[in-house]
Amino acid sequence: MAFLGNPAVTGAVLEKYGIRAQKKYGQNFLIDPNILGKIAEISQIGKDDLVLEIGPGIGSLTQILCERAGKVIAVEIDRKLIPVLKDTLSEYDNLTLINQDILKCSLTELLEEADGYKSVKVVANLPYYITTPVLMYILESEYPFECVTVMIQKEVADRIQADPRTKDYGSLSLAVRYYSNPVVAAQVSPSCFIPRPNVGSVILKLEVYRQKPVVAKDQELMFKLIRGSFNQRRKTLVNGLKNYAGLDLSKEQIENAIEKLGKKPSVRGEELSLSEFAALADILT
Ligand code: SAM
Repeated sequence: MAFLGNPAVTGAVLEKYGIRAQKKYGQNFLIDPNILGKIAEISQIGKDDLVLEIGPGIGSLTQILCERAGKVIAVEIDRKLIPVLKDTLSEYDNLTLINQDILKCSLTELLEEADGYKSVKVVANLPYYITTPVLMYILESEYPFECVTVMIQKEVADRIQADPRTKDYGSLSLAVRYYSNPVVAAQVSPSCFIPRPNVGSVILKLEVYRQKPVVAKDQELMFKLIRGSFNQRRKTLVNGLKNYAGLDLSKEQIENAIEKLGKKPSVRGEELSLSEFAALADILT
């Protein structure tokens, strides 16, 4: 099969199978050979790697991954794309294709063969409608991925990379950074996709921590505190946490913990760093 990731071949494949990009599945197919190559390079894919690809589409990125990786496992939700992929990628015997919703897959079952490989990497041009749930599903699994390289909306990457006291800072920034170091590796224009998305995109590489720099004794409590703090952004931390249904803490308990943390009673959640949220959780544990 010819190189898939350019406008002419992608157009011909879509026409041959009568495929129309499905909005409900966030289908924006990559048609820029440079960007496709860049994703593989940023992920440093080699023959020692097992790659999990989420949403192969018609196989443009999958083709490059199969060329470079030892093994590729690609999970696609859209059953209409399965016969297309079986055709476009028929020459690769290092590919396993799975017709499933990634959020319903057990990652350990999916990656049963991982022992034979030096590292396991996630690579995806993510469907924008479920970027955050997919990223959190991957990271919260605590599967020892080497890295996660994803094409996502620029606006989501801005939220992930935001610092305390900025408008973009929130639970997503803290959750992703608890598990990984996020690096924006390239900016991508809407003209690199068909159909064109309305927003700019970036390639984001998450270097997953083997050893987390910040650890809370009770991780679940820390994430509840984070969600509670940003649930009502404008409120002080005390009021945000007191009113949050996921927590059962009295005003006094929260005020004491904030004092022990060395913060003023009027502090807001958006002023706290990840290590301060972990420390607050440890005080309350
Ligand atoms: N990788 C292809 C490319 O770069 O041209 C397609 C990327 S497109 C942005 C997202 C792909 O994810 C689509 O093929 C879509 O059908 C698939 N997808 C959407 N939701 C999914 C889910 N929950 N699980 C697995 N695949 C999904």
